[in-house]
Amino acid sequence: MEYQANPARYDTMKYRCCGRSGLKLPVLSLGLWHNFGGVDIFETGRAIVREAFDAGITHFDLANNYGPPPGSAEENFGRILKMDFQAHRDELVISTKAGYTMWPGPYGDWGSKKYLTASLDQSLQRLGLGYVDIFYSHRFDPETPLEETMGALSQAVRQGKALYVGISNYPPEQTRRAVEILEAMGCRCLVHQVRYSMLDRRLEEGLLDLHERLGLGCTVFSPLEQGILTERYLEGIPGDSRAAKPHGFLTPDRLEEATLARVRRLKEIAAERGQTVAQLALAWVLRDPRVTSAVVGVSRVEQLRDNLRTLDRIELTTEELNRIEQVLAS
Ligand code: NDP
Repeated sequence: MEYQANPARYDTMKYRCCGRSGLKLPVLSLGLWHNFGGVDIFETGRAIVREAFDAGITHFDLANNYGPPPGSAEENFGRILKMDFQAHRDELVISTKAGYTMWPGPYGDWGSKKYLTASLDQSLQRLGLGYVDIFYSHRFDPETPLEETMGALSQAVRQGKALYVGISNYPPEQTRRAVEILEAMGCRCLVHQVRYSMLDRRLEEGLLDLHERLGLGCTVFSPLEQGILTERYLEGIPGDSRAAKPHGFLTPDRLEEATLARVRRLKEIAAERGQTVAQLALAWVLRDPRVTSAVVGVSRVEQLRDNLRTLDRIELTTEELNRIEQVLAS
């Protein structure tokens, strides 16, 4: 069926400036790490992307290796763009990354200019685009001079293949240096993408303050801890869930009874707010305005709708925050 975008799509979404830049990102972004690969049902992914855009989600987060197989999420997203979003390219912020294993040999991994440059060209091909909005170095490479990795990012901007650049999973000192090196090249680092959720709070250990000082935005990934911070696992491991899949990104040993007990207590707090655990977990990562956007993954449209309802009640009271702290410390 031909796609007609919802005319009211910008009415309820909230947008935050990405650090000290003019680029606003929706507080909820859609991540395509899982559920958009060659092994997944294409029409489900397409329906999720449509639903997201209809709700004001303008930012779609990809990487070269998302699939499986690697590259297939970009291919599928490229097909969706071509089929449904040709009229909307300028309303979209499309991100991709390079930094993890993509092809065999020494030039298909980590942070060399050779790898990043070739990978971005391949990503553009798969996406069917002339440029991406954000190109990330997916991880810090201890064996490549940071000047080289940042040089590859800066070159991508100069060549018009990326509008902005970012880093992901960089330790604090390398974050500071990356920003400095890019600045010296006349290129601003837009954003740092890091993991952050109620169950992984390393971001709070100085990195957020550093981002603020450097003017960096922050997109946070796995805000639902891959599904643990939802009601998905409270009655066991559903056969169609990420924890049941053989790829091993979310292994069942993460679902310890103590963790599930915390999720049950979070469910009580969420219920008092008329929310689900997922909505509470998303409101919680967004409580700090320095978090630009929570990059969420979903395997079906209903999950996305659930997550979008976070916006109906996004503020948390001090009392609620204190109660959440008690649960997390228990
Ligand atoms: P989440 O923590 O959002 O987990 C997503 C999973 O949670 C879904 O696949 C689904 O599991 C479950 N879920 C989502 N919403 C609900 C809901 N309302 N109710 C019940 N279950 C729900 O994030 P991801 O780990 O998927 O990461 C999000 C994105 O972040 C990625 O797609 C990617 O773009 C980015 N990312 C970046 C990384 C980096 O190194 N820069 C690393 C990892 C991710 P199920 O499939 O079982 O239904």
